[in-house]
Amino acid sequence: MNRLKGIAASGGVNIGKALLLGKEELSAPKIKISHEDISREIYRLEEALIETRKEISTLQKKILHDLGFDHAKVFEAHLLVLEDRVLIEDIIQQIKNKKVNVEYAFSQSIKKYIDTLLKLQDEYLRERVIDIEDVSRRVMRKFLKKEGTNLQELNEKVIIVAHDLAPSQTASLPKENILGFVTDVGGRTSHTTIIARSLGIPAVVGLESATRNIKTGDKLIIDGSEGVVFVNPPEKLIKEYHKKLSKITKDIKTIHISKVKAATKDKREVVVSANVELPEELSLAHEYGAEGVGLYRTEYIFLGRSDLPSEDEQYKAYSNVAKKMKPYSVIIRTIDIGGDKFLSQPQVPIEMSPFLGWRAIRFCLARPDVFKAQLRAILRASAEGNVKVMFPMISGVEELREAKKMLEECKKELKHEGVVFDEKISVGTMIEIPSAALTADALAKESDFFSIGTNDLIQYSLAVDRANEKVAYLYEPGHPAVLRLIKNVVEVAHQNNIWVGMCGEMAGEPLFAFLTLGFQLDEFSMPPPRVPRIKELIKNVNFQDAKTIAEHAIKLSTAKEVEKYLQDELKKILQDNFDKILLV
Ligand code: PEP
Ligand code: MG
Repeated sequence: MNRLKGIAASGGVNIGKALLLGKEELSAPKIKISHEDISREIYRLEEALIETRKEISTLQKKILHDLGFDHAKVFEAHLLVLEDRVLIEDIIQQIKNKKVNVEYAFSQSIKKYIDTLLKLQDEYLRERVIDIEDVSRRVMRKFLKKEGTNLQELNEKVIIVAHDLAPSQTASLPKENILGFVTDVGGRTSHTTIIARSLGIPAVVGLESATRNIKTGDKLIIDGSEGVVFVNPPEKLIKEYHKKLSKITKDIKTIHISKVKAATKDKREVVVSANVELPEELSLAHEYGAEGVGLYRTEYIFLGRSDLPSEDEQYKAYSNVAKKMKPYSVIIRTIDIGGDKFLSQPQVPIEMSPFLGWRAIRFCLARPDVFKAQLRAILRASAEGNVKVMFPMISGVEELREAKKMLEECKKELKHEGVVFDEKISVGTMIEIPSAALTADALAKESDFFSIGTNDLIQYSLAVDRANEKVAYLYEPGHPAVLRLIKNVVEVAHQNNIWVGMCGEMAGEPLFAFLTLGFQLDEFSMPPPRVPRIKELIKNVNFQDAKTIAEHAIKLSTAKEVEKYLQDELKKILQDNFDKILLV
């Protein structure tokens, strides 16, 4: 057995087979063939091209049915590559003249093709490289008679093991068949963690060498609460974990799902809402008793496709969420592309420090075409439900003013076109950069509400990349610097008569939900499966106790002291309920 230790990203345990996702090589060994073998190699080429064409057409039909025309369109480019006469002729000439095997000839021609495209000035053609690589891998698998992993058609339950998962990959996985996520890279708030938590799937990230130590088909135990993965464990341990799994399943059932507003024993009411990335999380939000959507991460509509979603397509998505959540409110955050969520189009350059770079509102303000289409879609959706708009990564008042100016321009345009929308739509600012937290007084005067994005606030105030497993030990939500910033933001918001929520992962972590309740936070937004636990916590504590404990906690010197103190105090308050609220 091999025991691998990583970062406990999303709680719970599971037992199942590993499915290793990797990037197959596009190169192939060179084998000399005889003159008699030439026709056989050319036949293999034709056969592989026909089979790949069939495979893509089937996939295209399925995507058209499931996700619509825009997504299916991507495969047109793939089919064109397979019909490119110049490319096919080049491969055949290599087989004939150089007397080499088809895999090698194919890999050489593709390499030439890609190199030529990469040298072109035309950005559109350069972007086709991804399509060519994708389709080439499919052809290569046909030569090697290897089955590629068609995740859409996964029909057994597996634990996904990967170096990293692109947000577009995670978004398109068949969730019902995923028992867990195991990745080499990542941290407590990287995108795989966020999705895993939202779907209530255990995840261990930042294992560094999981893909080297695990093979497809290995039996795994994933313990997302402890951050451990066991590879091919003995029967005894499997039995132990089966027991653990049934206890967790039972404990989850004992946590009451409350559909009423959360209130402490001494009657302080707060809002507990859900973070949503993918459409399927909406029903989870209802199921778990969330009182609205506190963060709708719209960038997921933009990922995993080769074009931009149109205003109409966005309008449909946003109004659908607004209608389904009515009468609760939905806070639609404008796209936060960049950092570890990247687009394939429009080409966002790969940056040295992407989290500090061209991200979120910076990208939007530089691309008014993209931003205004989204703002118009949000405004149109505001006629269909209780919609609020929120801007991410605001670093100071100027950016907020510029974003609001664009919103006003969109309002004017829509009015002129006779389109209805909520003219008094609330505008919120995400507080996730230390400079915003420290100038919250100025931002509060020009915002209708705040939402504290602790995932980023922690990384920027502690200078710790949130997705880098090597510095994950320094990523401490309980760090006194973080707590002081949060406390200041809440106080300043209230002094300026606006409400303040939190949509970073901290809001769904019981110890910190309790602490920030004591700071007088008004709203807590979290992955849907966390909602019942946080509501149960709030129901079982007194606001006055939380205040007193928070006042003491903020005077402590280290994150570890803070966590230990909060744990001891909560244990005293919750007694028998402590384990099930904190440890499930
Ligand atoms: C945050 O930074 O806390 C947040 C909620 O936004 P995201 O995780 O999408 O960056
Ligand atoms: Mg953020």
